[in-house]
Amino acid sequence: MSLGAGRGDLEPGADHWYQGRAAMHDLDAELQRRLDALESEGLRRTLRRVESGQGREILLDGRRVLNFASNDYLGLASHPGVAEAAARAARDFGSGSGASRLISGSLPPHRDLEEALAAWKGTESALAQGSGFAAALGVIPALVGKDDIVILDRQVHACCVDGARLSGATLRVCRHNDLDHLESLLSWARNQPGTPRILILTESVFSMDGDRAPLKALVELKDRFGAWLMLDEAHAVGLFGANRTGCAEAEGVAPRVDIQFGTLGKALGSCGGYVCGSRVLTDYLVNRSRSLIFSTAPVPAAAAAARKAIRVVQSPEGAQRCAGVWERLSQLTSRVRELSGASPIVPVMIGEERAAVSRSQKLLAQGFLVPAIRYPTVSRGRARLRVSVTAAHTPEDMARLAEALGATP
Ligand SMILES: *Cc1c(COP(=O)(O)O)cnc(C)c1O
Repeated sequence: MSLGAGRGDLEPGADHWYQGRAAMHDLDAELQRRLDALESEGLRRTLRRVESGQGREILLDGRRVLNFASNDYLGLASHPGVAEAAARAARDFGSGSGASRLISGSLPPHRDLEEALAAWKGTESALAQGSGFAAALGVIPALVGKDDIVILDRQVHACCVDGARLSGATLRVCRHNDLDHLESLLSWARNQPGTPRILILTESVFSMDGDRAPLKALVELKDRFGAWLMLDEAHAVGLFGANRTGCAEAEGVAPRVDIQFGTLGKALGSCGGYVCGSRVLTDYLVNRSRSLIFSTAPVPAAAAAARKAIRVVQSPEGAQRCAGVWERLSQLTSRVRELSGASPIVPVMIGEERAAVSRSQKLLAQGFLVPAIRYPTVSRGRARLRVSVTAAHTPEDMARLAEALGATP
C-alpha cells in the first residue's frame, strides 16, 4: 500500500490543494468571528497551563497559587497510595486497555473496581465506563426512547441534558428542586396515552449551586407515580452518608434509587464514570449503552486508582479526610456569612459575566485560583465564582480566602 493510501481518489494537483486551503481559511475566519463574539460577551474560555499535579497549591504560569478550583474534595488525586495503585496496575497490565470491554474483555482492575463499587454502594452490581459524561450518554438512551418521557431538573449537568436529548424521549424541565412542579409534571406524564415510561434525572448535590435535592420526598413521588429515578451523585460521593457513598445513603433512600450514577473523577481522585444498581440493569447496559460498547475500556491505572480510593474512603483515614472538608467549609462560612455551607461547593454570586471574570482575575493576582463560572455552564446573568473546599486545605487557607473574598470588590 502506498503512503498516500486514503487519499487515492484525489487527483494530485494544485487545484485540490488550493481549494482545500480556501475552505480552511473560510472555516478559520468563521470560527474567529465566533470567538470574537464570545470575547466581547465575557464568555470566551481558554485552557490554563498548570505545571504541577492537583493539590492544595498548584503551579500556574510559574506562580504558586492556592487551588480552590478542584473537585478533588478528599485530596485523593495526590494520595501516594492511590497513585501507587495506578502505577502498579500500569506495570502489571500496561498503559492501555486495548479495545472496548466487549471486544478485549474486562481486566482484573475493572472487575475489582466494579465489585468494590457494588459492595460499597450496597447494590447488586456496578458498571464502570470511561467517564461520567460518557456513561450518561450511554445509559439514558439505553433506558428510554421516543415513546417515553424524561423529566429533568433545570440544573442537572450537561451530560444528563445531552443524554436525555439523545434518547429522543419527550423532555420536560422541572423547576429546580421544586417538588410541586415535579408532581404536576409526573401527573401530566402519567396521563399521556400509551403509558410511557417516565425517567426522572436529578443530582444529589448540584454542581454549580452546591445545594442538595430533597431526596426523601423525591423518592416518595417517583414511587407514587411509578417513575424511574436516575440520581447523579458526582459531587456527593465520598462526602455524605455514614459510609460516604453519597446523599442517597445519607437520606436512607439508596435502595429505592433505580440508577445510582456518578464519577470516579472527583472525590475518588481518578477518572471514569459508574452506574450502580441491579444486576439486570448492568447486564442490560452491557448490551445497550453505546458509550460502553463503542468506546475503549478505562485504562487499568484509572480503574485501579479508583479502587484504591474507595478503600481509602472506607477507612478511618477516609472518615478523617471527610471530616476535614466539613471543618474547612465551616471555617469559611463562619467568616463570610452570606455563603452557603450545604456542600463543599460554595458559589459566590456575581451576576454579570465580565464582572465575574474580573473578580476571579483579582483573586488570582492575590494568589487564589477561584474560577468564574459563566454561561453556558450557568444561565446568563447568573455568573459566579465557584469555591471548592477540599481536605487538602488548611485552616489558614480558609482564613486567607475569607479575608480576600470579603475584601475584594
Ligand atoms: C463532572 C460531572 C459529571 C461528569 O463526570 P466525568 O467523569 O467528569 O465525565 C456528571 N455529573 C456531574 C454533576 C458532574 O459534575
